[in-house]
Amino acid sequence: RDKKQKTILIMMSNTGGGHKASAEALKQACEEKYGDKYRVLIVDMWKEHTPAPWNTMPDSYSFLVKHGMLWRLAYHSIQPRMIHVPYFCAMRAFIGRHLAAAFDHYDPDLVVSVHPLMQHINCHVLRERAKRLGRARPTPFATVVTDFTTCHNTWFCKDVDKCFVPTEFCRQLGLGMGLRPSQLVLYGLPIRPIFSKRLPGRTQLRKKLGLLPDVPAILLVGGGEGMGALKATVEQLDARLQGDAQVAVICGRNKKLLQELRARQWQGGSHVVACGFVDNIHEWMAACDTIITKAGPGTIAEALISGLPILLNGNVPCQEEGNIPYVLDNGVGAFETDPAKIADIMQDWLAKENRQEFRAMAHRSSALGKPQAVYHIVEELAQLADSLGAEARLPARECCSGGKRGGRE
Ligand code: UDP
Repeated sequence: RDKKQKTILIMMSNTGGGHKASAEALKQACEEKYGDKYRVLIVDMWKEHTPAPWNTMPDSYSFLVKHGMLWRLAYHSIQPRMIHVPYFCAMRAFIGRHLAAAFDHYDPDLVVSVHPLMQHINCHVLRERAKRLGRARPTPFATVVTDFTTCHNTWFCKDVDKCFVPTEFCRQLGLGMGLRPSQLVLYGLPIRPIFSKRLPGRTQLRKKLGLLPDVPAILLVGGGEGMGALKATVEQLDARLQGDAQVAVICGRNKKLLQELRARQWQGGSHVVACGFVDNIHEWMAACDTIITKAGPGTIAEALISGLPILLNGNVPCQEEGNIPYVLDNGVGAFETDPAKIADIMQDWLAKENRQEFRAMAHRSSALGKPQAVYHIVEELAQLADSLGAEARLPARECCSGGKRGGRE
């Protein structure tokens, strides 16, 4: 490792696809902006650096969200600070030294969390580590909130240097949890830089993706896992639109659904293109006119940047619930879970007589998108990483005569 190169450690966990996608967006933007000045590491701290049973958390999450009641219970039971702070304290007794060993291993100049359960324990472990190493102040710590609206209280820890939030709604939640206005920074959700780049024209993209050049195209997505009633929705769209629109279905990691859709003949004569997990979802969004998706924050933010009217067809309980009024109140889409009614709405949106209102909705969507947010966040992260200068590494007793360590108390 180059001695001058600074290390930014991004802590994520694969609970849903969104945390990983945000971490990758930050890494890509940082590399694009600063080349190899910073070494950006993305680490699943729970899976790679905690012992059993803590390291099974990503798998437990997948199980819990599929059982709504259990997830609601788990989610709400640790909402109050008077519960989650002692809870994290107890957990620290089991996993604290493992996390400390991980920090020794990576020796970061900045730690960034893109996960709701990674603030409190790690801030404490970093403070203790600074004392142990005789450092004047702990390694800077930033949270990048990757939920759009209704985010869990554990996202907000008063000990962080900065907390980047995607919406005013989240900023208000942060203030309510006692963070200072100067700690909270509002830019938007970090979305992969590719979404802010110019793409070939729609006709060219449609040709590349196997779509028809001049038929309205509906993109159907169910998050990274291909969740929701995707098959029934294509059936209804085919029956209702009778080939007046084409459908692109992104099945994500849902291989069974992909096989089923590819084997089907469509009675209504619709052109249906199905694919598995794609790395070029930005191209699919640019090639289509509208999107049907569950209320995942990443997909919503990407669809806004792409200027797509959004039909939400479901949501993960709790953290995605607030995304529905966000889409509705901003006039960029609708919410409907019944596949037959979804097809009705699509027919309405795409009807010739409604073209003007549909375009206005697309325009509002694009105006709400924040493609530059990722770069603004990365600029501030770079400043934080640089702030752990040589003076911060002096022995604690030489620097702590004023009492406080680095403003994180
Ligand atoms: N995604 C992708 N390829 C796919 C399906 C999904 O890149 O085939 C991305 C999508 O663009 C988004 C993320 O996976 O960035 C899903 O995040 P979201 O917050 O919408 O939902 P989650 O999967 O976290 O519930």
